Amino acid sequence: MAEHESLEFGKADFVLLDNVSLEEFMANLKLRFEKGRIYTYIGEVVVSVNPYRAMNIYGRDTIEQYKGRELYERPPHLFAIADAAYKAMKRRNKDTCIVISGESGAGKTEASKYIMQYIAAITNPSQRAEVERVKNMLLKSNCVLEAFGNAKTNRNDNSSRFGKYMDINFDFKGDPIGGHINNYLLEKSRVIFQQEGERSFHSFYQLVKGAPDAQLRSLHIQRDPTAYTYIKVGGQIKSSINDSADFKAVTDAMKVIGFTTEEIQTVYKILATILHLGNLKFGSDGDVTLIENSKLVSVLGDLLSTKDENVEKALLYRTVATGRDVIDKQHTHQEASYGRDALAKAIYERLFCWIVGRINDIIEVKNYDARVHGKNTVIGVLDIYGFEIFQNNSFEQFCINYCNEKLQQLFIQLVLKQEQEEYEREGIPWKHIDYFNNQIIVDLVEQQHKGIFAVLDEACMNVGKVTDEMFLQALNGKLAKHAHYTSRKVLKITHSEICHVYSVVGFIDKNKDTLFQDFKRLLYNSSNPVLKAMWPEGKLSITEVTKRPLTAATLFKNSMISLVENLARKEPYYVRCIKPNDVKSPLLFEHERCKHQVEYLGLLENVRVRRAGFANRQLYPRFLQRYKMISEFTWPNHDLPSDKEAVKRLLQGCGFEHDVAYGKTKVFIRTPRTIFSLEEQRAEMV
Ligand code: ADP
Ligand code: MG
Repeated sequence: MAEHESLEFGKADFVLLDNVSLEEFMANLKLRFEKGRIYTYIGEVVVSVNPYRAMNIYGRDTIEQYKGRELYERPPHLFAIADAAYKAMKRRNKDTCIVISGESGAGKTEASKYIMQYIAAITNPSQRAEVERVKNMLLKSNCVLEAFGNAKTNRNDNSSRFGKYMDINFDFKGDPIGGHINNYLLEKSRVIFQQEGERSFHSFYQLVKGAPDAQLRSLHIQRDPTAYTYIKVGGQIKSSINDSADFKAVTDAMKVIGFTTEEIQTVYKILATILHLGNLKFGSDGDVTLIENSKLVSVLGDLLSTKDENVEKALLYRTVATGRDVIDKQHTHQEASYGRDALAKAIYERLFCWIVGRINDIIEVKNYDARVHGKNTVIGVLDIYGFEIFQNNSFEQFCINYCNEKLQQLFIQLVLKQEQEEYEREGIPWKHIDYFNNQIIVDLVEQQHKGIFAVLDEACMNVGKVTDEMFLQALNGKLAKHAHYTSRKVLKITHSEICHVYSVVGFIDKNKDTLFQDFKRLLYNSSNPVLKAMWPEGKLSITEVTKRPLTAATLFKNSMISLVENLARKEPYYVRCIKPNDVKSPLLFEHERCKHQVEYLGLLENVRVRRAGFANRQLYPRFLQRYKMISEFTWPNHDLPSDKEAVKRLLQGCGFEHDVAYGKTKVFIRTPRTIFSLEEQRAEMV
């Protein structure tokens, strides 16, 4: 296995460790990191440690070294995994996916970009123009999504604040012909608030710093980010990020992708709207709530292409239906501020989803007829937020960590459980390996009626005033006996190496995610067709709105369930990213920090299962079909009582007896070396 790599760099595959212990695992990981070997395998899983420095290992020459090669022929690399996923798809007509996980700043997004670059580089040898166009779109879409979905955080200067799953579709030749992006849970609270030292989404600073003067004037925006309350909360206006150059790159990318001028203008109008909303101040005169800086109202009217009085009314009143009557109820000062912030968050989130939708319209596979072109296959790449456990964790972390438990469950299902079950089914001698099956944690969160999300939704359904405290009491009551729910004052989940602790403050509000209907109608009634199209539900009048919108938790849960179903249908490849330290240093390997990640990613269990296991397995008839020419007993046909016997005879003849096991329907081969050797012998014969 990757034998040409000298041992001075440690073991290229954790499966080769002398003893599988946490200590040896960590020692190998550290040694390799220090020697600049950031990738290490566990079988076909890549473990990656963020190098925090430019590595000269992604160039054209490196791509050439990995192209079409087998995983173990070259030192561990992301490219090898990308190639394996690509080969599996092309040779066996299988949909595959690459799941990249790890905590914020561990290197997931960079990894996903290198994987896409690799796939772009090795496909379309005949340089078909249409394929080149599609590739260019796929790569350009990253730039736009990062502008609107990424932000500087204390952990990562370019942190993705949304989860992303991207399908790339291939034609029968193996060339990309289109794609589709799914986005998950944008952290929209960042639109109105950032922690000390952090920024809002890049897009705002890009606009303020990079837009030409005339454009800024038309948006009524000054070239000074500190003038805008919403984006200066974190106090990180100055940073090493070149916002003004990025503005141009993003605008160009939108043009290349095919956004119309009107669409691009609307995008910037929406950003400007949000900046102005943040500066809107409410005051009161006796019982009357009013807007103090009323000049902004006409700015908003202009940007949203609607009448000023409509803007003012939506900000200060809500329409309520009482029986048959419809009345305008004035907001209190507090309600008005709440409404303003909710509006700012909602239009940003809607904008983001709309951008993803437009990109999808453009990159989606069109006019593909499988009867003519052969099967259309897919490689999916998942770049999604890893576990986040902060000092203070809230609803967002709860959702993100639930997502990780769910993906861990998929990993367990696919890598650990299925593997063990197959050995048992096939009657292969097998020592069972203990691992924590986190299904029980996933159920604790998502189960119908009893799960935490269900309890939360129930609390949100109550008509009267429900507090976060009441929600917590309901949880404590319902889950008192649950082995992994150990909370009283906070929401706490514990299992094996992980302890999630959340403050329930804000859960009810974030889950309800209320946006007054009046705002939806305001936006729908805009004379800007692009804006109008983003808010179709504004069409309903107050008396027609009957159904409660789904809660944030339910929407997220549904999207996770369908994500996992989708991944489970594909052949998975894994990249597990590790963050070596919290100070972005290329030199520092913080032992405890890394150990914790190795533990919660279940990497050691992964090594154990892999070591006990077999690299390759094939049904007997299939194996014969491929290799029968290398043995006189099986070529051209065998006269043994069964295919199993024939495979035995063939492998004995080659001297591989010690490296294989014979199951009921399949032959299991322990090391990849045996497969290579069989392949070589086959190549000599054909
Ligand atoms: P994540 O998506 O997991 O939050 P990123 O992929 O954004 O993390 O990586 C965070 C930062 O770490 C990047 O901006 C980059 O500076 C550095 N980094 C990550 N992967 C690499 C790599 N392979 N080579 C060099 N630097 C990297
Ligand atoms: Mg990221």
